[in-house]
Amino acid sequence: MTNEELWQSVLAQIQLNISPANFATWFANTKISTIDDNLVTVSVPNSFSKEWLEQKYHKEILKILKSLDESIKDITYVVTPVNIKLSASDKKSAKKEEMVEQLGFSELEVSKETNLNPKYTFENFIIGPFNEIAYAAAMAVVEEPGKNYNPLFIYGDVGLGKTHLVQAVGNKIKELDPSKKVKYVAAEKLISIIVNAIRNQSIEELKKNLRELDVIIIDDIQFIAGKDKTQEEFFHTFNSLYQKNKQIILSSDRHPNNIPAITERLKSRFNGGMIADINIPDYETRLAILKQKSEEKNVVIPSDILEYMANNIQKNIRELESAVNRMAIYKKTNKVIELEDAKKLLKNIIVSPAKITNYKKIVESITEFYDTSSGNMFFTSRKKEFARPRQIAMYLLKKELKMSYSEIGRKFGGKDHTTVIHACQLIEKEYEENEKVRQEIELILQRIYSK
Ligand code: ADP
Ligand code: MG
Repeated sequence: MTNEELWQSVLAQIQLNISPANFATWFANTKISTIDDNLVTVSVPNSFSKEWLEQKYHKEILKILKSLDESIKDITYVVTPVNIKLSASDKKSAKKEEMVEQLGFSELEVSKETNLNPKYTFENFIIGPFNEIAYAAAMAVVEEPGKNYNPLFIYGDVGLGKTHLVQAVGNKIKELDPSKKVKYVAAEKLISIIVNAIRNQSIEELKKNLRELDVIIIDDIQFIAGKDKTQEEFFHTFNSLYQKNKQIILSSDRHPNNIPAITERLKSRFNGGMIADINIPDYETRLAILKQKSEEKNVVIPSDILEYMANNIQKNIRELESAVNRMAIYKKTNKVIELEDAKKLLKNIIVSPAKITNYKKIVESITEFYDTSSGNMFFTSRKKEFARPRQIAMYLLKKELKMSYSEIGRKFGGKDHTTVIHACQLIEKEYEENEKVRQEIELILQRIYSK
């Protein structure tokens, strides 16, 4: 057996016992570099994974290795960074202040300079088994921005603390060293900034400004799916920052490999650093979060109610928060809260409310997603580029709004209901069978329901 085959067999067994996210985080870019004197040397991409393999997985790895080759006695782990090759060309520029103008937000409280909201800190961020990997990776970035894990890629479902965590990193870095230039931007905002800059022929200037940053934080990067122009420009900015050891922090609702319609080269950049996921918090952590949030709000909630909440609101920290808010409001007018009152108050959080959307939101989300916002063309044009988005629109109108086939047909320039049925069945089938299509539709749905 070659070293490579041996390591592949180890990985195959490890994979059976841990979550895909953990596997991707800890075992990506690892290999056996040498076997000498019965000592196996495993090379790992950074010191963070070294530490984790040593502390959490060492025993298991050794056990598997021994089962495959009795002569093996021990393992050492060495850090061998994965090289990203970059073309070497970059110039310095001034004009840092303009950055603030271009990426500026007007929202209250949010820092003009960084776009960071000071309410997101590590002090009020609760750590549990569900987010400890992401937290540890974030702390490592705080200690040495640009050195350890670049990019830092945090992913997890909505409402689990991605924005809080990436902003806390930004706030902490700024607190430790106010001279650091840190910028937070939501991907959707970045897309529109880039599109506008291209239109106004100021893209070079924008890129220059972005390259001046020490830390760039881009939230919800999954939204660049299908945005070719943005991806192109971002790729160059990414390289330039990376090359100068500037820290790049990204958040997403999914692993980079599962973001549809991004270029391979960008995907490989996202995969080149540290990827950490945030899962659903366990019961103990949910209880801790509820306690902390009620302390913040100065509202005393009896423990039976806290337990009821922790038991019933499981998937989303934002919902835990809004549950506490409801209690706080109720407390203002009522002295005591009984469990029965709490149950009533929390009814529509606990039985998650039916999602509501409408025709306009669906069509808008689809035309935005596919960049086909050319008025009536979308509904009637025979051009191929419109056919696909239209089929997806038909499918979603049926699925989400339960519109009738003939009604949908009428919306699309009087198409026959059999055409609509065909489109719906086609997309349904692809949704079932094709992972990429499924992800694409999920992204569109996310847009629809965030409108
Ligand atoms: P996401 O960006 O993943 O959708 P957010 O970061 O917006 O989630 O988190 C939703 C809410 O829950 C925010 O108000 C945030 O402050 C709070 N929150 C998330 N994670 C934690 C945590 N670990 N400890 C305390 N509060 C948290
Ligand atoms: Mg967020």
